Amino acid sequence: MSLPKLLALGLVIGVAGWWWLGPRTPAPAVATTAPAMPATPARTAPSAAATAAAAPTVAPARMAAAQDAPGALLLPVQGITAAQLRDTFTDARSEGRVHDAIDILAPAGTPVLAVADGTVEKLFRSERGGLTVYQFEPGGQYCYYYAHLQRYADGLAEHQAITRGQVIGYVGSTGNASPDAPHLHFEIHRLGPEKQWWKGQALNPYPLLRGGQPLP
Ligand SMILES: [Zn+2]
Repeated sequence: MSLPKLLALGLVIGVAGWWWLGPRTPAPAVATTAPAMPATPARTAPSAAATAAAAPTVAPARMAAAQDAPGALLLPVQGITAAQLRDTFTDARSEGRVHDAIDILAPAGTPVLAVADGTVEKLFRSERGGLTVYQFEPGGQYCYYYAHLQRYADGLAEHQAITRGQVIGYVGSTGNASPDAPHLHFEIHRLGPEKQWWKGQALNPYPLLRGGQPLP
C-alpha cells in the first residue's frame, strides 16, 4: 500500500524534478559558455598588446600613429622605421648649397614607396639626383621628390595616378650619391602658382616623417 504510494510519489517528484531541472540545466551551460567565448579573445588581446609593448622597437606605435593621423606621410623606404631617421635637412652640400632634404639610408634595391596618394608629374634623370620621381599631391600644393633611384617600378609612367604605399622604385646610388652608401634622397616642395615640378619652397620632411604628422 505504502510502497506504490512511495513509488508514485517518487515518480511525481522525479518527473517534477526533471521538469524543474531539465530546462534549467542547459540554461547555466549556455550562460557559462556564452561569456567564455568573448572571454577567450579578451584574454588573448591584452597579452598580445603586452607582447607588442614589450618589444624593444617603437615602430608599431609609430606606424599606428602615422596611420591614424589623416594625411600623414608614409615612410618612403620599406622596412625603415621613424626611429631610424636622421634629420639631414640643413646639412651643407658642395658649392654653398644646403641639403633641403632627408637622406634615408637603405640597402640598394629596397623598395621606395609613395608617401601619399598623387600623380607622377615627372620622371627625370639628372646629374645630381640620378634617376628621380616628382610626385604631385592631389591638391596640387606639394611636390614629393625621390632621388638616386636604382630603377623605377615596372610600368611607372608620367601622369600616372599612384597611391600611398605603392612601390614607385628602388633605392640606389645614381647621380652624385656614393655607391658605398645607397640611399633615398627625399624632398618636399610647396609649389608656386605655376605648379612647376622643378620649382618650389623646400619643407623639412624629417618632422613630418618622424612624427607621422600631416602636411601644414
Ligand atoms: Zn640627399
